[in-house]
Amino acid sequence: MGGFAQTVTGRIAAAELGRTLMHEHILCDLRAPGERIPPSPEPITMENRFEVDYFQNRVAENMFLDDDAAADLDLKHYAAAGGGTIVELTIGGMAPQPERLAALSRATGVNIVLGAGWYTQAYLPPELGAMDEDALQTEIEAQVLHGAWGTQIRCGIIGEIGCSWPITPTERRILSAAAKAQRATGAALTIHPGRHEDAPAEIADIVMAAGGDPERTIIGHMDRTVFDRDRLLALLARGFVLEWDFFGIETSQYWMAGVDLDLPTDYMRLDLIRTLIDRGYLGQIALSHDICTRTRLLANGGHGYGHLIAHVAPLARRRGFSASELDQLLVKTPARLLSFLS
Ligand SMILES: [Zn+2]
Repeated sequence: MGGFAQTVTGRIAAAELGRTLMHEHILCDLRAPGERIPPSPEPITMENRFEVDYFQNRVAENMFLDDDAAADLDLKHYAAAGGGTIVELTIGGMAPQPERLAALSRATGVNIVLGAGWYTQAYLPPELGAMDEDALQTEIEAQVLHGAWGTQIRCGIIGEIGCSWPITPTERRILSAAAKAQRATGAALTIHPGRHEDAPAEIADIVMAAGGDPERTIIGHMDRTVFDRDRLLALLARGFVLEWDFFGIETSQYWMAGVDLDLPTDYMRLDLIRTLIDRGYLGQIALSHDICTRTRLLANGGHGYGHLIAHVAPLARRRGFSASELDQLLVKTPARLLSFLS
């Protein structure tokens, strides 16, 4: 906690980050690259809001966060709920907007930490396939050390590095480059695993083989990826940080076509996390909402960025989490992960 964090408006002491969401999107385009022009003509209304939200990715417009006023409103609510920092993992392939994020941070007082690197294969610019691992590593390091996406704004974390299932050769090269860039820069690394229970362990192997630091590596989306306690414990025993980042999603069905699984509710997430804390892994768990659709924003009737602090934290207290455990989950672990030591 003694180091500094790198936000879109500059360096601050990691101890000043406050309550932190480790995996969100504020301005983001998750529409498939082929669907981006023209935008979907279907607006979100009171009448269709549930339907659009229930099948999050069926209406392309829902996957395009591009409204500064809606973001401003949501970030101000987050700050009012006691939130300090949001980690914005919109990276290459999802249309990152560093300058607009810096303006939103200044207007709302919420610190924003931007991710480096690239998302999954379907979103990759074709030229990336021709870059070798060294070139990818050099580019990721430059995003952390000098500035990202054509700006002087530096990234403060690497990821969410995108992995499909099965992982593609380009994704594997990017992941390996990202793990090497993690070692070189001291940044934390955060990863979007493929949708398969074996994906996180394979990713862990690739990160370790590249010399990555498991204690500074977060594997996200546990909510929809791993349902077997032994697999979770094996990843934790290797030192990795596991992230439950679907808080606020309370529907049981998963909207990804061809994937049939039971999504947990917030209480189910908390109960599972409780059992891992009781095994001694409090310091290796990260929490967030992964907001990446319009219907999850306050402006469109969603739960907004304040949900974890305003609603989930009281649920956790009722389920036996202490105030100091919540402080570890929401403040101390994020500060450790986002801290650069030099
Ligand atoms: Zn995400």
